[in-house]
Amino acid sequence: MAKVVCVLYDDPVTGYPKKYARDDIPKITKYPDGQTAPTPSAIDFNPGELLGSVSGELGLRKFLEKAGHTLVVTSDKDGANSRLDKELPDAEIVISQPFWPAYMTRERIEKAKNLKLIVTAGIGSDHTDLQAAMDKGVTVAEVTYCNSISVAEHIVMMILALVRNYIPSYGWVIKGGWNIADCVERSYDLEGMNVGTVAAGRIGLAALRRLKPFGVKLHYTDKHRLSKEVEKELDLTFHPDVESLVKVCDVVTINAPLHPETEHMFNDRLISKMKRGSYIVNTARGKICDRDAIVRALESGQLAGYAGDVWFPQPAPKDHPWRTMPHHGMTPHISGSSLSAQARYAAGVREILEAYFAKKPIRTEYLVVDKGKLAGVGAHSYTAGDATKGSEEAAKFKKEKVKA
Ligand code: NDP
Repeated sequence: MAKVVCVLYDDPVTGYPKKYARDDIPKITKYPDGQTAPTPSAIDFNPGELLGSVSGELGLRKFLEKAGHTLVVTSDKDGANSRLDKELPDAEIVISQPFWPAYMTRERIEKAKNLKLIVTAGIGSDHTDLQAAMDKGVTVAEVTYCNSISVAEHIVMMILALVRNYIPSYGWVIKGGWNIADCVERSYDLEGMNVGTVAAGRIGLAALRRLKPFGVKLHYTDKHRLSKEVEKELDLTFHPDVESLVKVCDVVTINAPLHPETEHMFNDRLISKMKRGSYIVNTARGKICDRDAIVRALESGQLAGYAGDVWFPQPAPKDHPWRTMPHHGMTPHISGSSLSAQARYAAGVREILEAYFAKKPIRTEYLVVDKGKLAGVGAHSYTAGDATKGSEEAAKFKKEKVKA
């Protein structure tokens, strides 16, 4: 029987909700490319409830224990003597979410002698050293498409929030002011601007489609070109490289996975090629941007705004400069963990586990690493290597918990 270790974010500091804001969520059965939403044999949770925090247990306990497996759920994942480290030596499966990632470094993978499967309850498996997983024959899977639309919605929200100066204006209301000039001195219309995405995969393309009705000029760069029909439908300009894209765009949204090729792509050099006063929205991964280069560009005015929900490491220490840099619209990593998305990724994890225990193939589109090499979505969108370096800094957060 397998031991499953599941790392989830903490419960709400105000306690688990007694009543939810809404009574139901729409039922999504298919994604825009025709792929079906997760199809486990059953679920043991109510869609629309909080599943991603410790008490929610991704709705897995009944299913796993009924089959005789052991489930350990913890949020304690960083630093020496974390619960995760203590549970690893005999764990067969490790599950975690990108929002509160269990950094599966080579050291941890080597320590977990029994490890067969690492599941990302969400999308983006850069918190696992993929090279080490390949070397050790560990399968890595994620729930492809489960929250791509959730993120695309967040991107549109953040672009509008930055360009229209929404967050500071909201701040004036809370402070009791009516400071219209203070609010509008940095407020523009999105209409007519050039907006580009770095990568037009599931999220990038969904963001482009949602932005089209704003009357903007759309651009993209990607390793593979989209079809002629899609380029025509959205009147897209393709750029062969990121530099060519950023030179002409007013707003750039980053939607590529983090892998050795994209790590620190947005550094001082690339940012200096952007138009003065550009905006960046990065909901992909914090490490795609050079942390201090972003701060410098906001301070100098080279960037007019930066928003996103992804940081490195996660959770970000209290003194992370992105918490206090000017003109930012950062949130914690939440875009892909709406209650709607949680229902899909919890069901997707169950689907993956059902396949694994029944010794049936896991859906190809969910695979990142399998049989010692990149597979499925991993083979398409990632390059081999390790992007976990520096993750030990996440332990700093543990000592500085914030009150409600
Ligand atoms: P997809 O795999 O559908 O798309 C990724 C795209 O990135 C692919 O089109 C791929 O190109 C392209 N790409 C890879 N490397 C490069 C590069 N060097 N330059 C340009 N394009 C590149 O993934 P999703 O759209 O679903 O997700 C993208 C990322 O967003 C995830 O990997 C994850 O990091 C992040 N994410 C964030 C979430 C959040 O909550 N904030 C939630 C979900 C995802 P090709 O396939 O053509 O080779």
